[in-house]
Amino acid sequence: MPSPLISEVLPDLLEEMVHLLQGSGAEPLEEQLRRLRIESVCDCGDENCSSFATAAEVKVASVVELQPIEGYLIIDLNAAEEICFIEVLGRPDVKYLLEEYHDSLQR
Ligand SMILES: [Zn+2]
Repeated sequence: MPSPLISEVLPDLLEEMVHLLQGSGAEPLEEQLRRLRIESVCDCGDENCSSFATAAEVKVASVVELQPIEGYLIIDLNAAEEICFIEVLGRPDVKYLLEEYHDSLQR
């Protein structure tokens, strides 16, 4: 089964990130964000963490920190300026949706 698009599992988070990109200087990332797939969910075990990888290989070369109203959202880029990981901390809404999606796969 192909990995899901962020827009399928976390449409609200996607729109929030696109909105937060405005004025950040990193607006061109929007196009990438819209076609990114959730390749794997972070397994660090931190209950505040709902981060996920958007590439098979995660090698972070630079980051774009967004300024959400709640929690932390950080976009990790590799050396080719491709988004490889999205750090999501302190966002129970995102965690809930990821867990719900995960559960739906087990059924
Ligand atoms: Zn984690």
